[in-house]
Amino acid sequence: MSGAGDSGRQGSPREETPRLEQRPLSVLERRLTLSDMLDTSTFAELVKSFAELYKLGVKVFDEKGNRLADIKSGNGDFCGYVFSFTEGKRCCTQTVARVKDGPLATTQNARAPHAPAATKVHGMIAVPCFTGLRYLVLPILWEGDVLGRVVFGPFVPEELGELPPSLTDLTPGIDLAQAGAYLAKIRRAPESTIVKVLLHFAQLLETLVAAGQKTFLTSQVHIEATLESNRDLEAQNRRLEQMNVQLKDMDRLKSSFLATVSHELRTPLTSIIGYSEMLSEGLVGTLNSEQTDYVRTIMEKGDTLLKLISSILDVTQIEAGKVRLTFEPVNVGDLVSSAVSSIKPQAQRKGLTLDLKLPARAVEVRADREKVRQVMVNLLSNAVKFTPKGGWVQVLVTEVKFQPELDAEGWQFVVQDSGVGIPSDQLEKIFQSFYQVDNSSTREFGGAGLGLAIVKSYVEGHGGKVRVQSELGQGSRFEVVLPVSPPPPRAVIAPPLSEPPPPPPARF
Ligand code: ADP
Repeated sequence: MSGAGDSGRQGSPREETPRLEQRPLSVLERRLTLSDMLDTSTFAELVKSFAELYKLGVKVFDEKGNRLADIKSGNGDFCGYVFSFTEGKRCCTQTVARVKDGPLATTQNARAPHAPAATKVHGMIAVPCFTGLRYLVLPILWEGDVLGRVVFGPFVPEELGELPPSLTDLTPGIDLAQAGAYLAKIRRAPESTIVKVLLHFAQLLETLVAAGQKTFLTSQVHIEATLESNRDLEAQNRRLEQMNVQLKDMDRLKSSFLATVSHELRTPLTSIIGYSEMLSEGLVGTLNSEQTDYVRTIMEKGDTLLKLISSILDVTQIEAGKVRLTFEPVNVGDLVSSAVSSIKPQAQRKGLTLDLKLPARAVEVRADREKVRQVMVNLLSNAVKFTPKGGWVQVLVTEVKFQPELDAEGWQFVVQDSGVGIPSDQLEKIFQSFYQVDNSSTREFGGAGLGLAIVKSYVEGHGGKVRVQSELGQGSRFEVVLPVSPPPPRAVIAPPLSEPPPPPPARF
C-alpha cells in the first residue's frame, strides 16, 4: 500500500500547489454547516418552546449526526420501561439508530408519511417503532445540500389500540397496565397532524438558517479580511525586522569604520600639528613672515581637523556604549566662564556681542566636568558659527531649583543667539549624528553634524534634557536642564548596537 508520503514524492498535483494548501479555505469557498448558520443556544430555546407547545419530542442533528437540539416530551417513562427488557433494549437501540443515522429514504422500515392531500412533504419519512409509537424525520435542505435532519416523536398514532405483538412478544412479563399508563403520557395524534406541525417547524427553521447564513457570511468575510490584512502586516513586519537587522549591521560597520579611520588619522595629524608648532616657534631655525603665516595656517587647519576627528571618535564611542561618566563636585560658574573664554576669540573675530549671565548664588553640582564643558562648548560654538557678523550670543545659567521635567532639583544652561535659526520641521532631526540643516556641498558653515548628537548623549547620560526653540532668520535658543545630583553613572550612554572590533594600536 502506498502511503500519502509516497504519492507526494511522485509529484502529485497537491505538491504543485503548496500556496493554495497553506491558505485557509475562505468561508465563501467551503460548505457551511448547520451550526455555522444557527446560533445554537437561541435555536435550542426555540426548539424547547416549540416542543412544549406541541407536547412533542424534537431532535435536530447536523449532517455529521451532531445533536443541535434534543427535547424529550412525555416518552421518558415508557421508553425507559421498554428499555429495561433485553430485547426491548436491542430493538430500541436499532430504532434510534435508524431515525438518527439511517437513510433519508423510504427504505429500511421507513415509509412515506400520511400527509394531507396535495401537501408537499419535502423528503419527509415516517419511521415506525416496534412499540407502536412513531417518528417523523425531515431532511434539512439548504441550497441543494442536506445539512441535517429534524426528528419529531415518538408520538402515539391516533389509531393505536392495544400494544402491538412486536412489543409484547419481545418483552415477556411486561406489565401491560403499567405500560399503558406510561403510554398515556405521550402525545397521541393523527400522523397527518404531526406532518403539518413538522412542516411548520421546517419553515421556521428555513427562515432562521437564511438569516443566520447572512449574518455568518458577513461576519466571517469581515473576520477573514481582518486576518488577511493582519497576515500582510505580519509579513511587512518581518521584512522590516530583517531590514532593521541589516541596518544595524551596516550602522555597526559604519561606526567601526569611522573609529578605525579616525584613529588612524589622528596619529599622523598629531605629528603634523606638533611639527608645525615647532616650526612656527622657530625651534628648528628662523622662518620669514610668509613662511610663519603658512605654517600657522597648517596648524589651524590641523586643529580643526583634529577637533572633527575627536568628534567622530566621541560619537563612535557613544554609539558603542563605551562612554563612562565620572561625577565629581563642579562649580558651574567656573566651568561656564572657562567655556565662554575658549569661544571668545571666534566671537570677537565675527564682531559678536557675547554676554554671560550667572546667578547671584554659586551653583554647585555633581557632574562629569569634561563632558559638561564639551556640551557648553558645542552649543556656544554653534551659536557663534550660525550667527552672522554683528549679532549677539547670550549665555545664561539659572539658580538651582526644582525642575518639574526632571522631577528633581536642577539647574539650566541656556545659549541664545540672534543667528540664522532652524526650520521648525528640522528641530527634531538636528540631534541626530551627521545631520545638518544645510548638507549641500556649497554650505556656508563648517562642521560634520556631530556636535548636537554629542550634546544630547552627554546631557541624557547625566539624567538631563536638552530642548531647542528657534525661528528662521531670528535666532535659536538651546536649553539644557541638568539635575544637581545625577543618577548613578551608567556604564553606557547609548545602548550598544553590538561590540565593534577594537581600534588598532597607535602608531607614531
Ligand atoms: P555642526 O554644527 O557640526 O553642523 P551640530 O550637530 O552641532 O553639527 O548641529 C547640527 C545642525 O543643527 C547644524 O548643521 C545646523 O544646521 C543646526 N544648528 C545647530 N545649532 C544651531 C544654531 N545655534 N543656529 C542655527 N542652526 C543651528
